[in-house]
Amino acid sequence: MTTTEQERWSRVKGRLRTEVGEDVFSSWFGRMDLEAMDGSTVRLSVPTRFLKSWIQSHYAERVLACWQAEESKLTRVELIVRSAVLRTIVAKPKGAELDGMNGQMPRFNGITGRVLAAGDAGMHEALGGSPLDPRFTFENFVVGRSNTLAHAAAKQVAAGKRTDPVMFNPLYIHAGVGLGKTHLLQAITWTGNAIGERKVLYLTAEKFMYGFVSALRTQTALAFKEALRGIGVLVIDDLQFLQGKSTQAEFCHTLNALIDAGRQVVIASDRPPSDLESLDDRVRSRLAGGLVVEIAPLGEELRLEILRARVAAARAHHPAFDVPLNVLTYIAKTVTHNGRDLEGALNRLLAHNKLTGHPVTLEMAEREVRDLIRPQEPKRVKIEDIQRIVARQYNVSRSDLLSSRRTANVVRPRQVAMYLAKTLTLRSLPEIGRRFGGRDHTTVLHAVRKIENLVGNDLALAEEIESLKRQLQE
Ligand code: ADP
Ligand code: MG
Repeated sequence: MTTTEQERWSRVKGRLRTEVGEDVFSSWFGRMDLEAMDGSTVRLSVPTRFLKSWIQSHYAERVLACWQAEESKLTRVELIVRSAVLRTIVAKPKGAELDGMNGQMPRFNGITGRVLAAGDAGMHEALGGSPLDPRFTFENFVVGRSNTLAHAAAKQVAAGKRTDPVMFNPLYIHAGVGLGKTHLLQAITWTGNAIGERKVLYLTAEKFMYGFVSALRTQTALAFKEALRGIGVLVIDDLQFLQGKSTQAEFCHTLNALIDAGRQVVIASDRPPSDLESLDDRVRSRLAGGLVVEIAPLGEELRLEILRARVAAARAHHPAFDVPLNVLTYIAKTVTHNGRDLEGALNRLLAHNKLTGHPVTLEMAEREVRDLIRPQEPKRVKIEDIQRIVARQYNVSRSDLLSSRRTANVVRPRQVAMYLAKTLTLRSLPEIGRRFGGRDHTTVLHAVRKIENLVGNDLALAEEIESLKRQLQE
C-alpha cells in the first residue's frame, strides 16, 4: 500500500463520515481498511461477516460514490472479511446470492462480496431465526374454546400488511406447557413469510440472548439494532427464559424501538406479564399494554379433535394405522395433561401397531398409555385471584389488602392471602411482597408462619382456608 493510496483512503473516509454522521460511521466503517487498489477495483476489508453483509446491503452505493469522488475511474468496490484474507478465499460467481439475514438481503451493484466456502452464516448466525417445525401451521392447529382468541389474534397478525396499522402490540400469548404457544407462533412465522408482506423472524428467548450477546462481542450494538429494523414482525418464544440484566435491558430497548416504529411484536411465555419476576416494571407494563391472551387448558372435545387430526396426519404415512373412536375418546378423557402427551400417546400406539402388527384396541391403549394418565393438572393460581377471592371472603377491598393499614380486620385477610400466595403459586417471597403493595419478604415470611401456626389450632380458620383453596382451584 503506497502512502498516496492511504491518503486517498483517508479522504474517502472523511467524505463518508461527513455523509453518514459520526455515529453511523464509527459503527459500520470505523474498522474498515483499505487492502488494495487495482485498476478499476478497490478492495476493502472489515473484521466480521456481519459487517460485510450489512455494508453491502445498506451502504454499497455510498461507499462506491465516495471513492468515485476521489478516483473517477473506479467502478467496483470489493469487500472482504479480514480474518479470511489470509486463507484461501473461494469466490462465488458474481451476483450470487449474498449472505445476510435469512438470505433476504437485497442485491446491489458495484460491490462484489466474496464468500467463504464454508458457508457464510454472517448475520444469519447473529440474528437468524430459530428452526421451525413444519407441522406447526395454522392448518394443523385445531381451534376450540380454550384457544379461540389466541388463534384469531395470531391469524390477524400473520395476515397483517405492511401498511396496516398495528392493532395490538405486542401480542402476548401465555399458557402452561404443551398448550400450543409454540405451534401458534411458528404458524404466524410460516404464514407471514409465505405471504411475504412483512418479514417475520422467530426467535426463542435463548436465541435472542445468544444473538445479542454474540452481536455485542463481534460487532456493535447499534449494528444489531439496525439489523432488527429490517424485520416486520419479531416473534419471541418462551420469554420466561430471558435472563440477565443487560439482555433484559436490550430486550426492553428492542421492544420499544420496534413498537414505536410500528413493527409487530409477538411474545409467548408460560406466565402473564405481571408474573415475569425478573423483568422490571416498565417492561412488564409495556408487555401488558398490547393484547394479552391466555390459552386455557385443552378441553376434552378439543383434545379429541387434536387426536383425530393427528391420526389423519399419521395415516398419510402409515395407511394401515387405524385408531377406533373408543380409543381416541379414552385417550382424550384420560391423558389430560397437554398437547405433547397426546402426541406421545398416539406415537406409542403407532409404534406398537407397527412393531407387532396388532390392531389398536382399547385394551392395548390402556396398557400403553398408562403412565401418561395423570390427575388433572392443578389450575395455575394467580395472585390477583387470591387477592380478589380473599377480599370477597372477608369483606374488605383489594386495595385494603395492598395498603399499609394495620387494623385487625385487614391484617388477618392480608396474611391469609400471602399465605395462599406462597402455598398455591410458585412465586418467591420477595415477589409476593412486591405484589402486596411492595412489602418486604420478611413480612411475607412472617405472615406465612403466622397462618401456618394458627391453622394447627384454629379449626374455623383451617376450614376457611380450605374453602378458599377450593374456590381458587375450581
Ligand atoms: P407450548 O409451546 O405451549 O408448550 P406446543 O405449541 O409445543 O406447546 O404444543 C405441544 C404439542 O401440542 C405440539 O405438538 C402441538 O402441535 C400440539 N398442540 C397444542 N395445541 C394444539 C392445537 N390447538 N391443535 C393442534 N395441535 C396442538
Ligand atoms: Mg413452547
